[in-house]
Amino acid sequence: MPRPPRAKSPATSSPAAKARRGAAPPPSDAAAPLKPRKAKRRMPPGKGATKLSGRLSADEVDAFFAALSEANPEPKGELNYVNAYTLLVAVVLSAQATDAGVNRATKDLFATVDTPQKMVALGLAGLIKHVRTIGLFNTKAKNVIALSEMLIAKHGGAVPHDRAALEELPGVGRKTANVVLNIAFGEPTMAVDTHVFRISNRTGLAQGKTPLAVEEKLMKAIPAKWALHAHHWLILHGRYMCLARKPNCPACVVREICKFPAKTTVF
Ligand code: SF4
Repeated sequence: MPRPPRAKSPATSSPAAKARRGAAPPPSDAAAPLKPRKAKRRMPPGKGATKLSGRLSADEVDAFFAALSEANPEPKGELNYVNAYTLLVAVVLSAQATDAGVNRATKDLFATVDTPQKMVALGLAGLIKHVRTIGLFNTKAKNVIALSEMLIAKHGGAVPHDRAALEELPGVGRKTANVVLNIAFGEPTMAVDTHVFRISNRTGLAQGKTPLAVEEKLMKAIPAKWALHAHHWLILHGRYMCLARKPNCPACVVREICKFPAKTTVF
């Protein structure tokens, strides 16, 4: 007996439907278990969305960042911190949480606890009282205490200006290290979070199936003059303009450059 033809889901098969979905968010690294992870992360099959758009030329990449720069000359991250150590702690706490939620939790904490030594003295139970409103707070709090102990034991209580040393800290992956290197030490690094991953694939800036692949392409594509602020421009653009489900293309300053084939016409 002949088999009936397999039904094809219209919601997942058409190029337009794929384009509308945009790129899927990469997994976060800051809630990782205490041991540093070495495995290469890869997007789930079918969610890489690397063929959504054409690629931007070098001139278009330059124009893309020129437009973002003109709209926001001095972009800033939205996590509150008082020094490199509290920046590191805030970024570790921010995985799968909003910056506003982390800021609410750390407001009182950072007023009195701003060094690894003070954090260790506060202890796990004391830290949990501050951060229990943040998702995955148990794991994150354990990581913060453990990384504080390691900073004291191996780095004299200072945050190391060194990628390998940062990534050795519990709960700190490549993305968190990139944020710290960029904000605390002024390095032109590119932390690929869910927004940067989506925008890069969607617009044609840099397409790849993993955060690392996108990061490497962005680092090659972005002119040096834009490299220091590029991370913040892309995050803020993704957070407030190029939204995952419905980008605000009519109001977007790079709409003439962006290659996304499913730009919105009304918002
Ligand atoms: S035009 Fe639309 S899809 Fe392209 S970057 Fe702007 S908001 Fe995003």
